[in-house]
This record gives sequence, C-alpha cells and structure tokens, in this order.
Amino acid sequence: MIQEAERLQPQSWMTAAETQRVMQTLNRDGARALFVGGCVRDAILGRPVKDIDIATELPPEQVIEKLEAAGVHTVPTGLSHGTVTAVAPGGDWDHFEITTLRVDVQTYGRHAQVAFTDDWEADARRRDFTINVIFCDADGRVFDPVGGLADLRAGLVRFVGEPVARIREDVLRVLRFFRLHAYYGQGAPDPAALEACTALADLLPDLSGERVAGEVLRTLQAPDPAGAFDLMARTGVLRVILPEAGACDRLRALVPLESEGVESSGLRRLAAVLQTDRAGIDGVADRLRLSNRERTRLRGAVTVGWSAATATENQLKELLYRRGAERYTDTLLLTWAEHIAGGRAGDEAPWRAALALPLRWTVPEFPLQGRDVLALGVAAGPPVGDLLEEAEQWWIGAGFEPDRAACLDWLRARVASA
Ligand code: ATP
Ligand code: MG
Repeated sequence: MIQEAERLQPQSWMTAAETQRVMQTLNRDGARALFVGGCVRDAILGRPVKDIDIATELPPEQVIEKLEAAGVHTVPTGLSHGTVTAVAPGGDWDHFEITTLRVDVQTYGRHAQVAFTDDWEADARRRDFTINVIFCDADGRVFDPVGGLADLRAGLVRFVGEPVARIREDVLRVLRFFRLHAYYGQGAPDPAALEACTALADLLPDLSGERVAGEVLRTLQAPDPAGAFDLMARTGVLRVILPEAGACDRLRALVPLESEGVESSGLRRLAAVLQTDRAGIDGVADRLRLSNRERTRLRGAVTVGWSAATATENQLKELLYRRGAERYTDTLLLTWAEHIAGGRAGDEAPWRAALALPLRWTVPEFPLQGRDVLALGVAAGPPVGDLLEEAEQWWIGAGFEPDRAACLDWLRARVASA
C-alpha cells in the first residue's frame, strides 16, 4: 500500500456527518476507501471544495449493497466504469462520487473498458495528472503515490506517465491539461505536456461536443482565461476546437470588468472571445451542443456600436427592455471590453452607471396588445403586428412614459391616418 505523506487538517467537508457515514460504511471489514481528486487537491491549497470523489477497493455492487444497508441512497451513475453516486440529502455535502479502483484495459476515449482491482498504485497510474492523484483518508492522512503534492505546490500540471500515450488513450486530457493549468499552474507549463498536446491536437475532433464544451466553459471560468486561450492558440489546439475564438484581447479586457456586483460567466466569456457573425455563433452552439438557453444568451451577447459615455438614458433603457437584464449586462460588458481592447477605454463611471440600470429602473410592460389594434377595426393579419410594433417604438421613444390611454390615443390617430 502507498505510504502516508502528511496530514491534512480536518476539513468541514470531511467531518460532515454524511461524509463520515459514507466513509465509515465503505471502510468497514478491512476494505479501504480514500478521498481523491479535486477535493483533496483543493483542500491542500486551502481552496473551497466543490465535490467529493472517493476511491474504494470495493466493487460497485458491494458499494451499493453496503451503503443501502446503512441507509444511504445510491445511484448507479457509471457502473460500467465503476462509479456509484451516494446521495445523502440534507447536509452541505449531499452527494459523493464513489469509484472502484480500476485499470483501463482498453481505451476508446470515454468508453474505456475497465477491470477492477485492489491495487492503489495501478489505479493511480490510470488517472490523468499527478495533482489529481493525491489520496486522503477520513482522518486527513495524505497519500501521494506519484508525487502530486510537490507538483501541486510548484504549480506544475504533469501527466501521470508518458503524455503522448496518455493523450492517445483519451484525447480529452489535452483540454483537461489546459483547464488544470489555468487553475493550478504557476509559471511555464510542463514542456513535455505542451509538446504532446501540440502533436496530438488533430485528434481533438474525435471528442463529443458536450465534452469539449464542458472543458472549454470551465477553462473560461479560470482566473486568467485569456492566458489559457493564448496557450491553446499557440499549440494549435484552439484552431481545432474553436477556430472562431479570435478575440483573446477582448476576453482579456472583459475579465477585470466582471466585478462590483457583476458575476462572471463562462458563457459571456465565450461570447467575448468569439470573433464571428450570427451564423458563426450558431455554428459554435451546434458544435458544442449548447442548450437553447445558452444559444440564446450567446446570440444576445453581441456588441453595440455606441459607448456608455455617449449613449442616452433611453438608448440604454431600450437595450434593457429589448434584451432583458442578463443579455443587457452581457452586451454592455462586451462592448466595454471591446472599447478597452481597442485602446478606447474612456471613463469607467458611465459604464458602471449603465451597468447599474437594471437596479434603478424596473422594465415596464408595453400597455397595448394585438386586440387593441383589432378593436379599432383593423382586419386580422400582418398589419396588426406592424401597427403594434410602431406604437411600441413610439412609446419607447417617448421614454416609456405614455400610459395605456395615451398609447391608445396615438394608435387611434395612426389608424385614422392610414
Ligand atoms: P473537479 O471536480 O474540481 O473538476 P476533479 O479532479 O475532481 O476536479 P473529476 O472529473 O471529478 O475531476 O474526476 C475525479 C478524478 O478522476 C480526477 O481527479 C482524476 O484523478 C480522474 N479523472 C477524471 N477524468 C479523467 C480522465 N479523462 N482521464 C484520467 N483520469 C481522469
Ligand atoms: Mg471531482
């Protein structure tokens, strides 16, 4: 068995009642289960832990049997590769991904054929990067079979084993490399990894759109996504997965603007880095299998031709009225970032004031409907919609002020003059 390396101070996610129950159940009768992956990695760095992965010697059927007997609900999320999710609702930590130790016998990307094992070292070798192979038990004893601790502290994302061979097993690891480097890397990336990623970038089209999207969007949420994208551009990876991503400068300018009450967003950052037209945006959404909601957001996050310094209050209100708060904020930030990237930054105050519009102005509802037009004797058909739109534009032009009666007066006069 691997040797103990050091000890992690007890963490709230480790001592939580649900975690303890799951770990105690899995560790009964001489079997062994250890935390692994993101939770250990982030806890060592003192970063917030997002989800809990557990590795165990028990085969999946026994994981299910033992946990269910202990009253913990399980979901067979990935039985063929040995993963069971334990669900313990109620606490802060309500689900646990439990994976049986395994070796990948044959690998075709995601559909690896696996064999279960009780050999921790073998399980360590099938994992991707050394910083992801630090184990820890329920008492905080840390086990470090492939030197992940030193790499983590040095900010070095290094493949377990030979990078080219590991990428050939699963080319997603190229994208995981750039993502993990964006979050954990300090200084220059590992040259061997970079060389392998460059050499094998042409295999990336084999990946499903969902897997690419998952990694790309998470990379975009890193503290310096533009740095990560620059690196992906230099290695030829970007050209293969996202050739539309030509606006790294705009992305770089956007990131520091996402502060002061504006939450950062991977999708907005994606919009910022894309340099393409509407059809191009749809192409990206298709390829990355984005949801309709995501596609709509991406379409709406396009720059406008004015700056906040010169925009009128009504121009801003119209944008907010027509696009809704989310796309309004996206559009403003993107436009601001474009001004900065183009060396036309200007004053920050008008941009911040414009961004605050949704807080100080409630978007009103247009007081007329199609039946108001029909009631004036206009025959059903396309002109009804056209007249309604005209009336709406008049109402917007009048600062959204006219009430229903005033709008009806305007419409009556308009119909009479037609
Ligand atoms: P986070 O949950 O913060 O994204 P993580 O490292 O926990 O990070 P998971 O996707 O939860 O990522 O995977 C858990 C562990 O499984 C990883 O730490 C790694 O050891 C292993 N792993 C995940 N994906 C791969 C892969 N494509 N190839 C090899 N090992 C992988
Ligand atoms: Mg995880």
